[in-house]
Amino acid sequence: MGIWQKEITTVLLLLLATAIVGGITGLFLPILTLLMLAIIIRQVVQINRFQQWISTGGPRKHPKATGIWEDIYYHVYRFKKNEKRRKKKLSKMIDQFRQSTEALPDAAVVLGVHDEIDWANKAAREVFGLQPSDKGQRIPNLIRFPEFIRYLKSGNYKETVTLPSPVNNRITLEVRIIPYGVGLRLLLAQDVTQLKKMERMRKDFVANVSHELRTPLTVLKGYLETLQDMDDEHSPLLTSSFQQMQGQTERMQHLVDDLLLLTRLETQQKKSQCIDVPALLSQICKEGDALENASRRIQLTLETTGHIVGDEQELRSAFTNLLGNALKYSPEDSVVKVRWYQDKESIVLAIEDQGEGIAKADIPRVTERFYRVETKRIKKVNGTGLGLAIVKHVLMRHDAHLNITSELGKGSCFSCHFPVGRLCK
Ligand code: ADP
Repeated sequence: MGIWQKEITTVLLLLLATAIVGGITGLFLPILTLLMLAIIIRQVVQINRFQQWISTGGPRKHPKATGIWEDIYYHVYRFKKNEKRRKKKLSKMIDQFRQSTEALPDAAVVLGVHDEIDWANKAAREVFGLQPSDKGQRIPNLIRFPEFIRYLKSGNYKETVTLPSPVNNRITLEVRIIPYGVGLRLLLAQDVTQLKKMERMRKDFVANVSHELRTPLTVLKGYLETLQDMDDEHSPLLTSSFQQMQGQTERMQHLVDDLLLLTRLETQQKKSQCIDVPALLSQICKEGDALENASRRIQLTLETTGHIVGDEQELRSAFTNLLGNALKYSPEDSVVKVRWYQDKESIVLAIEDQGEGIAKADIPRVTERFYRVETKRIKKVNGTGLGLAIVKHVLMRHDAHLNITSELGKGSCFSCHFPVGRLCK
């Protein structure tokens, strides 16, 4: 028999007994009232007991009860037991997660909506010098590097920012912020000291080798020129050998010059002066046309007189490289268009040729160092494969970017986009 059926049967039996006793004694109503009162008092007592038991957290032992109340106690007790087990499992998981994040070699800090520290792991406490009492403090008050504050405020967390550790400036950190949840952010910092050291060593090595190669190359070139002057052209083998040797030393000299320029771009402070780009372009185009034996292939259109803030030497080298390529990789009788104009977002230098073009797959790679597209050309085109790497670097130093559109057999357009903020005031 179900618990409810039992309860109903008991009440019905009591009512029946009341009716019989009431019928015999003639006191049906008072007895019924007494019965109802007894039932209500019993329920009130049970509710009170239950309330007392639940208000103390529902301890293991519940008060003795019968009927429906025993069932209620049993279900509540079971529900509480399951809840306890679930809580235990959850807190174990949280503990494991905490332990694993504590053991992480990278620093991790959870930031709240107002840049306040919610939580930090051991590595973060070490590299940022954070104390347990810093919980709730705003992180810009503790890590005061301007690059970091700018990065934090920017809200653009696609890139990373590199900064020295506030407690040990020999440690270099690469910091990245990852937004998650509503307004929450995870700040991760990785120790990149060794990586930066190796990068510096590579740069120093390339710079030193390039520098050291300069003198022997100049000597070699000088002797070759003298020997060529002495050549009476009696031996065709000797003459062609001299020509090839000179060609190769020139190529090596270009390589060394380009490598040194790249090193300078990577290491030197940039200059900021107001540059008359239209005048610079006119000069470069004149030189380009002169190189092409007065064939006047270059069409220069200056749609804006905009001057920009930058380094003239660097911009000259970037623009000359782009123009040189346009002339080099297109037929000798084709036109090369050079345009300096301004649109809504940027000031643009576009150099367009009607040359061999670049395959789609090669476009993202042409700015890599030493990358040269292998194509069967009628005439051999000399180059170092460093020109566009230089262009990319120069533009990066001017907050600008290079855009390449090209179609095989039809031509290419290389455009440099400078932010309008670079215009001279
Ligand atoms: P390079 O010294 O070989 O010209 P760059 O870095 O300037 O080195 O260019 C890399 C490669 O990109 C070139 O070897 C060439 O294949 C391709 N390239 C560059 N500019 C053009 C252009 N205007 N038209 C077609 N191909 C080009």
